[in-house]
Amino acid sequence: MTTASKQTKKKSLTVLAPEDNFSFACHAGLGCFTRCCCDITIFLTPYDIIRMKNALQMSSGDFLRTHTTTLIGDLGLPVVALKMGEDKQKSCPFVTPQGCTIYKDRPWSCRIYPLQPESTKLTEKAGREYYSVMDVPFCLGLNENEVLAVKEWKKEQGIPIYREMESLFKKITMNEFLSHKKITNKKIQEMFYMACYDLDRFRRFVFDSKFLETFEVQPEVVEKIKHDDVELFKFAMRWLEYGLLGQHVLKVKPDVMEAKKQELGIK
Ligand code: SF4
Ligand code: SF4
Repeated sequence: MTTASKQTKKKSLTVLAPEDNFSFACHAGLGCFTRCCCDITIFLTPYDIIRMKNALQMSSGDFLRTHTTTLIGDLGLPVVALKMGEDKQKSCPFVTPQGCTIYKDRPWSCRIYPLQPESTKLTEKAGREYYSVMDVPFCLGLNENEVLAVKEWKKEQGIPIYREMESLFKKITMNEFLSHKKITNKKIQEMFYMACYDLDRFRRFVFDSKFLETFEVQPEVVEKIKHDDVELFKFAMRWLEYGLLGQHVLKVKPDVMEAKKQELGIK
């Protein structure tokens, strides 16, 4: 997993393409087992939160309040990190001596370890991903001889769905429109936080406000987003494209538009 405090890149960095191999194996027989689950900074993606809050049968609001802290990133938009425990080791709240209690739904950065992305905007645009192997002195798994191909490792760790969801998120955060901006407006920060991380609140916003009276939303989409968090997240990203990036991916209903024009005296 990504550990901001303990990991460093190898001195002579080897960049791996999907077809390249690396050596690694992690298992309970190693003396370092679970040591990596303490005192680390794990930034959570929106899809991490969907998986974790559902695994824990918590609402997004309860999960965020209990297990995360929020920081403001470079663009001025909120980013969410997993809160470590208050014990001496600062243990992850989900670690036990037997391992991770939410293993099936563990965050992206725990899955991809020991790899870390080295892709740039340009390589990503070209559909290429590159990785390096983290250099973590206490991780004995890096000395194991099991040879793995990057692309097989990613598949085994369930990365493709995380990547698919992340690409929707990056469509917003890596958009040219935001590239030279720093958002300071608290309402915009709040709107972004709700749409990306607090999905249960976003659902209430859609269904308990005048949202569906204002925007044209296909009935089958309305049905799906009532219960399906992944569909709701996709819809939330469309709402951000509309509201934050000014793209015409949502349409205001003609009668609402007409009433607004009349109210503003526009012909
Ligand atoms: S091998 Fe590495 S990843 Fe696995 S438990 Fe040990 S330190 Fe953690
Ligand atoms: S979520 Fe699981 S794998 Fe990740 S740090 Fe916590 S216990 Fe370890």
